Amino acid sequence: MLDHLTYTAPRPKVIAGAKGDWELVIGLEVHAQVASNAKLFSGASTAFGAEPNSNVSFVDAAMPGMLPVINEFCVAQAVRTGLGLKAAINLVSAFDRKNYFYPDLPQGYQISQLYHPIVGEGEIIVDMAPGIARRVRIERIHLEQDAGKSIHDMDPALSFVDLNRTGVALMEIVSRPDIRGPEEAAAYVAKLRQIMRYLGTCDGNMQNGSLRADVNVSVCKPGDYERFIETGDFSVLGTRCEIKNMNSMRFIQAAIEYEARRQIAIIEDGGMIVQETRLYDPDKGETRSMRSKEEAHDYRYFPDPDLLPLEIEQAWVDEIAASMPELPDEKKARFVTALGLSEYDAGVLTAEVENADFFEAVAKGRDGKQAANWVINDLFGRLKKEGLEIGASPVDAAQLGGILDLIGSGEISGKMAKDLFDIVWTEGGDPAAIATARGMKQVTDLGAIEAAVDDIIAANPAQVDKAKANPKLAGWFTGQVLKATGGKANPAAVNELVAKKLGL
Ligand code: ADP
Ligand code: MG
Repeated sequence: MLDHLTYTAPRPKVIAGAKGDWELVIGLEVHAQVASNAKLFSGASTAFGAEPNSNVSFVDAAMPGMLPVINEFCVAQAVRTGLGLKAAINLVSAFDRKNYFYPDLPQGYQISQLYHPIVGEGEIIVDMAPGIARRVRIERIHLEQDAGKSIHDMDPALSFVDLNRTGVALMEIVSRPDIRGPEEAAAYVAKLRQIMRYLGTCDGNMQNGSLRADVNVSVCKPGDYERFIETGDFSVLGTRCEIKNMNSMRFIQAAIEYEARRQIAIIEDGGMIVQETRLYDPDKGETRSMRSKEEAHDYRYFPDPDLLPLEIEQAWVDEIAASMPELPDEKKARFVTALGLSEYDAGVLTAEVENADFFEAVAKGRDGKQAANWVINDLFGRLKKEGLEIGASPVDAAQLGGILDLIGSGEISGKMAKDLFDIVWTEGGDPAAIATARGMKQVTDLGAIEAAVDDIIAANPAQVDKAKANPKLAGWFTGQVLKATGGKANPAAVNELVAKKLGL
């Protein structure tokens, strides 16, 4: 199905250091909030922006004696996401306690899946340029709880805590270190986000923190990565640093670029990279150390005794598989092969599933390329200009389709169609009815055009002689007829008639 893509070998970003070239190696841990109304182990609401501490159950607040109960819907979303990444689904997985103290984590541990994640190996096709793609391997997806939020800037002496987020379900999606540059990292996150939005498993809202990435970066010498792929030996790669909690595509790229150059400068200076967790400061455009691996907590993971291993049935997985929508890669491929769209246009139209659905409704039973042009240039262009989402488009698919039908039947010209689009956009209504009511339709009635041609030929005998001697001059008659009919005659029909009448 994806045969039309050319998979590129890794084309790593190369940075020239003072002592030779360096390549980047990047692995991402993406935290995606499950699009669920309730939390992973409690019935509390996950609504964003609620009054602080209003969505906190006894389980989330870790009251003594409270027991977690797994939310089946969240499990289904993790399976669905796994299937969307062509990944192995583990019928048996288990929850572990990751122990650490933090004021916004009342339990004193986070429930996660270290040893037996629910989803195993998969892949993401990352689009780099029209028709050019890269495969990035997925190592695993596990389910875990989110923590709450400490607030330090509301009072000079006090800190506050908001537990609304505590216990919200996250999917942690871990990639292999197959990403080789800042643009690829951003394209990877974009593709993952797109797939989850198609699946409806995560809303992908980066601003609200529904999608955050921990970005692992190391640098190596040309040839080292190939050796790593051959042998699987991580020690041939450089030591990595992890940049925590990135929630902007632009900052992800800037942070990677900065971090790689920082590491190169240290190594070339004879220093060593210390494995550590760093934070990106967007104001300064720098990463800075948060904690080193040596100071890292010993999380003392152990299986959570409050939760049985999670066993799911193949039949249930099959049911979820049967309910999967067409995913972006397949949709894009179909637009290219079945509808004849360019790779680029297909990419634009499939970026969001709502856009793709709108386009398909317009294209159904019509010319795909023409529909694509109108949807991309006229509709999306206008929506963008007015800051509107497709769902709020004043022109719906049926109306745009109606305009295309009028062009197709020759009833209105391309230019008139633009005017008609503008009228439908601002006033609404049925395009055909508007075109008739406002006299926008071209005269396709051959009788009327013929009369106009006859009149002009009769009135201009000198021009007739000239055109007979030099057929190129017949265009003059066409121009006169179009003028006489107020631009509403179909030019092709006029041309034909003029040639016939002049005997050319
Ligand atoms: P941890 O849980 O300690 O962060 P993981 O084994 O889960 O460790 O790895 C985290 C991420 O780091 C993965 O996405 C992995 O691909 C990536 N990674 C591992 N080694 C490197 C490296 N040398 N350079 C860049 N990324 C790496
Ligand atoms: Mg990590």
